[in-house]
Amino acid sequence: MQQPTVLVTGAASGIGADLARAFFHTGHRLVLADLQSPNYMSEFSSRAEDVIFVQADLAQAAACNEVVRQGLDRFSSIDILINNAGFQHVCPLESFPVDVWDKMLAVMLTAPFLLTQLVWPSMKRSRWGRIVNIGSIHSQVASLNKVGYTTAKHGLIGLTKTAALEGGPLGITANAICPAYVRTPLVEKQIAAQAETLGISQQAVERDVFLKSAATGSLIAPAEISSLVLYLCSENAKSVTGASWNIDCGWTAQ
Ligand code: NAD
Repeated sequence: MQQPTVLVTGAASGIGADLARAFFHTGHRLVLADLQSPNYMSEFSSRAEDVIFVQADLAQAAACNEVVRQGLDRFSSIDILINNAGFQHVCPLESFPVDVWDKMLAVMLTAPFLLTQLVWPSMKRSRWGRIVNIGSIHSQVASLNKVGYTTAKHGLIGLTKTAALEGGPLGITANAICPAYVRTPLVEKQIAAQAETLGISQQAVERDVFLKSAATGSLIAPAEISSLVLYLCSENAKSVTGASWNIDCGWTAQ
C-alpha cells in the first residue's frame, strides 16, 4: 500500500533534513520546502520520482500556496504536514527589530496556519491527516532576549489545539513537539556566538549555558525528534491529538 505523502518545511537543514530522510526510508512520498536547496537529494535517487523540492520563502503567503500547489499537482494528496521551518534572533525586547519580529511570526506562525488551511481540503477528502508542528521548549517557557521566537512558538500551540479540535471529526490529528536544544546548525551558531561573547570554549557554553537547566547531559539528536514525529504520524497515534510533546532533557520538570 502507498504510504502517505508528507510535506516538510525547513527541509534543507537540521531537524527538517533528518525528517526528510526518516520519511523517505519509511516509504513516504515527499514534498520538501525551504529557502535553500537540500544538499542530500542524491540520497533519494533510488525513488527520485517520490520526492520534490520547492524553493520557497515561507514568509510569503504566495510561496506557501505554491508549495502546496506543486505538491498536489505531483502527488494528488498531501496527507502529513510537518511545520518545521524556523530561525532564531537573539536581542533584548527593548531593541528587538520590528522587521525581524514580523518575519519570525510570518515564518513560524502564519506559514504553519496557511499551510494547514491549504492542505486541509486534501486531508478532509481522505478523511485522514496528520499535522505536526515543531514548537520548542520556548512554546512552554521564555528565555531572555528571545521575544520573537518565544511568542511565535507559544502561538503555535494555539494553532495546534484548534486544528486538533476541528480536525478530530475529520480524521485529522494535530500535535506539537517542543524540544530543548537539538544539535543542528541553528543551535551551533548560537553556541559559537555565546562562546565568543562570554570568552569561553564552545564545550563550556554547551555544558554551562545550554544544558544548565537540563536533567540529562547532552544536546538532543535530530533523530530523537524524527522518531516521535513518525509515531505521531502512525495509525497507532490516531487518538493522540492536541498535545504538546516535550523533548526537553527534563527542563520543564523543575
Ligand atoms: P536549522 O537552521 O538547521 O533549519 C531550519 C531550516 O528552516 C533551514 O533549512 C532554513 O533555511 C529554513 N527556513 C528558515 N526560514 C525560512 C523561510 N522563510 N522559508 C523557508 N525555509 C526557511 O534549524 P533546526 O534546528 O533544524 O530548526 C528546525 C525547527 O526546529 C525550527 O522551527 C526551530 O525553531 C525548531 N527547534 C529547534 C531547536 C534546536 O535546538 N535546534 C529546538 C527547538 C525547536
